[in-house]
Amino acid sequence: MNRIAYLDYNATAPVRPEVVAVIAEALEYGGNPSSVHAAGRVARRAVEDARERIAALVGASPADVIFTSGGTEANNLALGGNVGRRLIVSAVEHGSVLGAAFLLDPHTEVVPVDSSGVIDLGALERALATNDRPAVVALMLANNETGAIQPVAEAASIAHRFDALLHCDAVQPFGKIPLAMPDLGADLLSLSAHKMGGPQGVGALVKRPSVAIKARAIGGGQERGWRAGTENVAGIVGFARAAELALADLDRMAEIGRLRDALEARLRAVTPRATVFGAGAERLPNTSCLSMPDVGSETQVIALDLAGVAVSAGAACSSGKVARSHVLQAMGLADAEASSAIRVSLGWRSTSDDIDRFVGAWTALYARTRPALQGDVALNG
Ligand code: PLP
Repeated sequence: MNRIAYLDYNATAPVRPEVVAVIAEALEYGGNPSSVHAAGRVARRAVEDARERIAALVGASPADVIFTSGGTEANNLALGGNVGRRLIVSAVEHGSVLGAAFLLDPHTEVVPVDSSGVIDLGALERALATNDRPAVVALMLANNETGAIQPVAEAASIAHRFDALLHCDAVQPFGKIPLAMPDLGADLLSLSAHKMGGPQGVGALVKRPSVAIKARAIGGGQERGWRAGTENVAGIVGFARAAELALADLDRMAEIGRLRDALEARLRAVTPRATVFGAGAERLPNTSCLSMPDVGSETQVIALDLAGVAVSAGAACSSGKVARSHVLQAMGLADAEASSAIRVSLGWRSTSDDIDRFVGAWTALYARTRPALQGDVALNG
């Protein structure tokens, strides 16, 4: 079978071959990093080496990198590990922030976004000012559905004026745009390996040295007591390698951005009713959330899949089910519009052939769905 046009990097990026190689090697180490014997020490050295490299890549200290099972656990730990603080979250956070926040505190405050999906900083300030109890503010750096980039540094300086901590979910932008914890002013930062060419099931919560976290996973005292459980040695090694490769390859993101822009322009040439959501905001260069007028997201995803093109419907980077997108809803989109949105996300292996295949399949589906409509679509697209 021909290689599919894989355009679902925000769900998971294909693992880079160099990462597969270091994971295979690490799987041979054998020892438990907590064991004192030679095999254990080899594993420990690999974990600590990866910790130093991840810390350097985000401008943090290795002592503040807590390896987790991925972005979800990092987000849960960031919110749940700050006992006693109230929670303020943006309306477009990932489910692992929103769900955890409401479970921890049903009185979690939600800060709205504008029609491009960007947080209302005035509303954030008002939410902070209404109550003296210190808060944790959760604001992602880039949205997984639309790619919209948030003003995290501004939000952090507002939060700090009210003695709040700023937690930033950087799962999507890490490896796609330059980022450094000190520039963001973030007190807590969540990362995940599998969005940039690393393995699934590993990530990190990185904190500022002064931030005290209370463990959620209790057991053998690993990760300096912040997160018990035998470390995923091979995953951690693969994570560090993937992050280094992605960041060394950031120039390629400019090219990816051009491919994404060309894709959007070509769909708009097919029909001006093809809307790109979040286009008014600064966005990750690899992400496009767009609608096919009058065609449900699920129908599009299935038809594109049959044509060898892999994309996601709205927020479906989580469960395989096509749910109503809380992100598009928060941006004020009507149900009819939001329900025709798909997410196309490019990455390190994307080529112009993938874009051609996507545009061809999208155009063919568009034409098939409106036999009554004459002259609106370039049937030969
Ligand atoms: N945060 C964002 C913005 C995401 O897109 C994802 C991906 O699904 C996560 C968190 C969860 O990360 P993980 O899949 O590593 O648990």
